Amino acid sequence: MHTVIVGGGVIGLATAWRALAQGLAVTVVDPEPASRASYASAGMLPPANEQLYDDEPLRRLYLASRDRYPSFVAELEEVSGRSTGHRRDGVLDVALDAAAVADLDRAHRFHKAHGIRTEALTAEECRVYEPRFAPSVRGGLLAPDDGAVDPRRLTAALLAAVERLGGTLVTDRVTDVLIEGRATGVRLAGGGTVTGDRTVLAAGCWTHLLGGLPPGVVPEIRPVKGQILRLRSEEPFLHRTTRGLAGGSAVYLVPRADGELVVGATYEERGYDTTVTAGGLAELLDKARAVLPEVTGLAFAEVSAALRPGSPDDRPLIGATSVPDLLLATGHFRIGVQLCAVTADALATVLSGDELPDAVRPFSPLRGDGVGTH
Ligand code: FAD
Repeated sequence: MHTVIVGGGVIGLATAWRALAQGLAVTVVDPEPASRASYASAGMLPPANEQLYDDEPLRRLYLASRDRYPSFVAELEEVSGRSTGHRRDGVLDVALDAAAVADLDRAHRFHKAHGIRTEALTAEECRVYEPRFAPSVRGGLLAPDDGAVDPRRLTAALLAAVERLGGTLVTDRVTDVLIEGRATGVRLAGGGTVTGDRTVLAAGCWTHLLGGLPPGVVPEIRPVKGQILRLRSEEPFLHRTTRGLAGGSAVYLVPRADGELVVGATYEERGYDTTVTAGGLAELLDKARAVLPEVTGLAFAEVSAALRPGSPDDRPLIGATSVPDLLLATGHFRIGVQLCAVTADALATVLSGDELPDAVRPFSPLRGDGVGTH
């Protein structure tokens, strides 16, 4: 069984690795693997976010991926011989206004109800954890079992694992999906084709733009721009991944062991534009400074913008389509790094001839709510 995967972001590469681990043959096609959303991403792995509170299926999927993550990265690090920068030393949410304090109360109740360890902290306790916090920090919620991964290291490890397990990487752009009653592979911009028994489309917010797709088979995956900043210091500036909540929005601050501090991110609906703007940068710096006044003293390292893949209902699309042998793995929007583990396992299961796991079934592209394919 040979599977062709279009797109080598975190979703395509994780799927390739898990399929190879199941003994399948895999070719990944991407002109520039791990260069788009997955490269810009902060890699935060918090216990939950507000998108999950009222969406039970997404919540179950998210928590399944959260539970799977430690063994997923441990196996990946062993196979690839590379670190992923995974850390489970806690995520600390801090509230900077009264509404945010109420949001943290709600989050705490949610965590308790779902067996996730979190601890409510007073303002003083927050400052014991992070003495650099601003005086305006009113209280916090610590999730000791959560953390972050470095998506740049994660995708490098996935690429190494794919290579080590005998996968093929074709660095070319797919122009068309080949469909003759069933999907038979792809046509390349550089000429020629790659054929396979199954074709998985994991091209992020470009998935529906691939040529050759019958109308309605792949819903529009809209690009949601995120600008994100990287700062640097000699020693890690923060002890653990932190989210600052104020004014109904959040800023996240993700420290890496090498002194990088990631500050993210904006949410903007501007089509495929990836311009880094002065306003975007100012927004991130203002929000970061509200939590950590001294952050402006750090060295500037990088600012970038990338496009989150958003499906019509902002939920992922994972599994078979109405075209035989054509599968989707896209639409992971703002939690694709967190969901890559459960997505990759599910796709590998289906590619091996089994059913979609229960937790993933609600995200079938064939779900009959006008979102998926018919
Ligand atoms: P992408 O990474 O965009 O990959 C798509 C790939 O398809 C690309 O490599 C591209 O080259 C390829 N491609 C496109 N067209 C073609 C073609 N015609 N032929 C071949 N290949 C093609 N998620 C989290 O879980 N935690 C976070 O903290 C987090 N922070 C984020 C911060 C920002 C600023 C952004 C933008 C996203 C963040 N996300 C986060 C979301 C996460 O990054 C995405 O959900 C995830 O990276 C999506 O992965 P993907 O592989 O589907 O898409």
